[in-house]
Amino acid sequence: MSIKTINPATNKVIKSFEEMTDSTVDSAVGKAVKAFDDWKHTSYEVRAKLLHKVASLMRAKKESLAQMITLEMGKLIAQAEGEIMLSADIFDYYATHGATFLADKVLTPEHGTALIRYSPIGVLFGVEPWNFPFYQVARFAAPNIMIGNTILVKHASLVPQCGIAIEELFLEAGSPKGLYTNLLISGKRASALVSDKRIKGVSLTGSEAAGASLASEAGKYLKKSVLELGGSDAFIILEDADIDKTVDWAVVGRINNNGECCIASKRFIAVEAIADEFLKKFTDKMALLKVGDPMHKDTDLGPLSSEAAAVQIVEQIDRAVKGGAKIILGGKRVDSEGAFVQPTILTNIESDNPVYYEELFGPVATFYRVKDEQAAIELANDSPFGLGGSIFTQDIPRGERIANQIDTGMVFINHPTWTQADLPFGGTKGSGYGRELSELGIDEFVNKKLIRVS
Ligand code: NDP
Repeated sequence: MSIKTINPATNKVIKSFEEMTDSTVDSAVGKAVKAFDDWKHTSYEVRAKLLHKVASLMRAKKESLAQMITLEMGKLIAQAEGEIMLSADIFDYYATHGATFLADKVLTPEHGTALIRYSPIGVLFGVEPWNFPFYQVARFAAPNIMIGNTILVKHASLVPQCGIAIEELFLEAGSPKGLYTNLLISGKRASALVSDKRIKGVSLTGSEAAGASLASEAGKYLKKSVLELGGSDAFIILEDADIDKTVDWAVVGRINNNGECCIASKRFIAVEAIADEFLKKFTDKMALLKVGDPMHKDTDLGPLSSEAAAVQIVEQIDRAVKGGAKIILGGKRVDSEGAFVQPTILTNIESDNPVYYEELFGPVATFYRVKDEQAAIELANDSPFGLGGSIFTQDIPRGERIANQIDTGMVFINHPTWTQADLPFGGTKGSGYGRELSELGIDEFVNKKLIRVS
């Protein structure tokens, strides 16, 4: 049984789950189709009522749901509570604004009259990761249920209880059976499901390998896909940055979610004039982080999501060092049970170092010193990823000018890349395609039908 709750703070197995059989999955897809036949005829008011109810149940159960997240993937408990609140906000956001986003758009063609009418496309299949077990699902489910689509979710094998809890929230909120279904299956079986004719679109958040596997199946069967993959966000520090605020954000940007965040700040790029001061202050603050039990409110950094994740990142650190990198801070496992890794800072990484182009999914910052703004932009763009990035400067027009030259889907000035319901989220290059959240997030799995009258 590959689907298990393993507490990463102790590496102890808490509970194991049987995978669904092929015939159970087949019947779940059938129920989702049946649910779609009814749901597509419901009004926006009915859909909004359900989403608001899901949001209010989430808020009411915030403590217990947050504990489940922390138990299964090690996020700090306060951040897990924050994730529940953010997820509830996303459900409310689409319930409140969905009807406006989906209203007919009247066109003014040269001849006749025309409009675009939005309609749902059917059953969608989402493959979701463990790092934000509720938020990632909210981004996919909320807009699509508002559109009138129905949802199948294959959640990550590390967070089975979170996956089950989300389905239960829908049922408790009064959702029809089949509207939202949690599929307890392994990643290996996920891509095979894409060929099912009854599934009309697929969405995945996770690694490039999983994304490529799912999207190639989707392409083969001519289905739309949305991919949100990894990132290696640059955090650019210019000489006119407010240094103390910048250092505080650098620490938050790197270690939020124990560093396991696609939009974490991963590559810290400082111009020469401020590089020494930034590196010293950043190292001092990272060194003060209290590593420990994620259930304790005074812990700053919890474990990684699994033993495998901890092994992988230490292996990356070792390879970086073999390739010429220097460890300024940390670099090792914490000497205790659980998937803990020390807060780490690496410097002297050249472009021939194997980790130069890799994503570091954990509390490991890489630091680069560059001669000026132009060199910072070039280094930021020298990455296979294109998710987010940030620029720290007190000269906002300068920050905006640099933002124009950063080849990513999101750029933040004086803040690490962040997320909220009403801001679009998504990347370019190896970080995937399509957008989630905001009005753009309701625009992916919808038929924008032209109706033209002569
Ligand atoms: P995966 O991409 O393997 O997992 C994400 C989801 O994809 C899970 O539900 C997983 O299922 C599923 N999956 C795995 N293989 C396939 C496949 N061939 N076809 C369809 N679905 C599949 O991520 P990992 O957990 O292995 O993490 C590895 C790396 O991925 C991280 O270090 C990080 O770089 C990146 N990642 C990025 C995330 C992001 O937010 N962008 C989130 C998570 C990971 P199952 O759990 O059953 O294997």
